[in-house]
Amino acid sequence: MILEGPVESLKGIGPKTAETLKKAGIKTVRDFFYNLPRDYENFQAATSISDLRPGKVVVKGRIEKLTSRRARKRNLSIVEGFIKDNSGSVKVVWFNQSYRMRQFAEDKEYVFSGLYELKNGRFQITSPSAALLTDIDEKSGLTPIYVAHGGLKSGDFRRLLNDSRDRFAEIPDLLPSVKSGVRKEALFSSHFPTSEKAIKAAHDYLAYEELFELILASKLNRRENEKLKATPVKFEAEKIREFVSKLPFKLTNAQRRAAWEIFQDMEKNQPMNRLLQGDVGSGKTMVAALSAFEAVNQGFQVAILAPTAILALQHYEGIGPLLGLFGVKTALLTGATKQKLALKKQILSGEINVVIGTHALLTDDTEFNNLALVIIDEQHRFGVQQRQKLALKSPSGLAPHLLTMTATPIPRSLQLTIFGDLDVSILDEMPKGRQPIETKILREIEISDNLYPKILKTVKEGQQIYWVCKAIEDKSDVTSVKSRTRKLQELFPKLKIEFLHGKMKPLEKDEVMGRFSDGKIDILVSTTVIEVGVDVPNASLMIIENAEGYGLAQLHQLRGRVGRGSVKSYCYLLTSGDSTPSKRLRELEKSTDGFYLAEVDLKMRGPGEIYGALQHGVLDLRIASLSDTKLIARARKDADEFLKLGENMLKYKELMDGISKYQQITTLN
Ligand code: ADP
Ligand code: MG
Repeated sequence: MILEGPVESLKGIGPKTAETLKKAGIKTVRDFFYNLPRDYENFQAATSISDLRPGKVVVKGRIEKLTSRRARKRNLSIVEGFIKDNSGSVKVVWFNQSYRMRQFAEDKEYVFSGLYELKNGRFQITSPSAALLTDIDEKSGLTPIYVAHGGLKSGDFRRLLNDSRDRFAEIPDLLPSVKSGVRKEALFSSHFPTSEKAIKAAHDYLAYEELFELILASKLNRRENEKLKATPVKFEAEKIREFVSKLPFKLTNAQRRAAWEIFQDMEKNQPMNRLLQGDVGSGKTMVAALSAFEAVNQGFQVAILAPTAILALQHYEGIGPLLGLFGVKTALLTGATKQKLALKKQILSGEINVVIGTHALLTDDTEFNNLALVIIDEQHRFGVQQRQKLALKSPSGLAPHLLTMTATPIPRSLQLTIFGDLDVSILDEMPKGRQPIETKILREIEISDNLYPKILKTVKEGQQIYWVCKAIEDKSDVTSVKSRTRKLQELFPKLKIEFLHGKMKPLEKDEVMGRFSDGKIDILVSTTVIEVGVDVPNASLMIIENAEGYGLAQLHQLRGRVGRGSVKSYCYLLTSGDSTPSKRLRELEKSTDGFYLAEVDLKMRGPGEIYGALQHGVLDLRIASLSDTKLIARARKDADEFLKLGENMLKYKELMDGISKYQQITTLN
């Protein structure tokens, strides 16, 4: 029973700490024990200061001459001083961590782990983690590092967990297929590692446990889905043919195949649960339009959901007129929509056939007349509850067919195993006539010679530019959207330069995006809010500042914002500092194929990067990695066997609790 208890039931955790933990999503003892270290420092690998080489380093020493100051230009607090050992001393700097001033006693020894690098002509260790030497497991030298939450630092987590050391023995077994006691041992070793080997074994078990749950959930979901009833939508080839003939281009074969798979699904009286996967620019919207047309044709309503108002508007502008040619009535319903009540009446009466919107569609009281198809663009941006609400909007009591679309490429080898409950259609072919985007890596010091002329040329030719920055406000090394905008305005006084970021009001954002779409802005300086889906074919130059700070998938996604028209497009990846560009950036320079890049990333460094978005949304894998195909295969086989046993699942209460989170995530019901 220990795991279900609130965190307060552990020694040393009072109401105040519990409150902070709760804000970080850690409510129960289970959450707390499963809050695994983000990394381990091996403090045994310490180097003498006189032997330091640039890169990640560990040093042992005392702190000297610690001072703190505020940087004038950017609102930063800087703590700096020296680390001294027998061989010498080295400068150390922390940004925005003023608590470091209080952390160190001059007569005590600490271990530091951080980046040793050249800054302003001098070597320093930048923002290292630090631990008291006596706090470190003597034998192994291994120390778990936790993500800080609120006022709770990594060291606080270590202390609190240590207070509950004895309680790990009470952790019950979870999986029918694993030896008794393995689970508690794995959790214990994760927090109190005695060797690298023990960490690996713990990780292997926990990853297996996670995959087993995920795969079991996905199989159970499919079962559940098969029990549901949906309205069959009859396929009429003639009408579709007419529709296709009115398009300004020929459908790609991949688009045809995907549409055909969708039509077949919708004819069934079981709800479709299909994922449409296609790289940026592969034409998913057109497949969505075809599916919507098909449903409306048979007298049903369709809801199309986009993650942002900007995207909803774009879908509306893209799909609306096309469907309008056939008398289909389309409406946009977002937070900014005026006369909502009147519109909602028309939706309820069935007068409106296709509703395109954002969350607003879900959170409010919109009722439908006969909703038969729901299309969700970039589903991982939607929360679980929102999807559940949508299922209830079908007054017939029948579940709507569901089509979700994503641009995150998932290597084929993994699709079946992970998305066992979804049917997948893939657009693996780009529309004809596209010129591949040319990608270049540029150091920041090269931009005035190489990039500025390119900017002027692009604008002169009537094209537009995106400039992506990492942050809204300035941070230590990162030029923000706001100051980059100012700098560019000073440099190019004749150009129209504006900025866009996620903290602006929705209406403001729409206006800026609207002006960019209309060609009234030359350079749009933006955070990654433009990452998903915006379609401005006239933009042909993408500049990504601090490119090393993004994952491969995200860079690929950002790059996909250009190259959507007929002119040749370019993408510049700007890197700061002197280090050679990472393999990741060089791969991006070489290829524009999202599936290829996904495979590369999978081989190169596991799924952490490419699946960032996916893992945090759709899959939410915290421990396992999608590249671990052997482990996946084993978990899959074991889950199958477990299901075949036909045991009363409720007997495994722990397990059922564990999988409920995946069940909510992977289906609509
Ligand atoms: P994504 O898959 O990224 O959502 P979109 O649906 O936004 O891609 O399509 C990208 C662009 O390609 C749009 O401007 C769209 O009109 C165009 N497009 C879609 N299908 C085709 C096609 N078969 N031939 C030519 N252009 C197409
Ligand atoms: Mg799209």
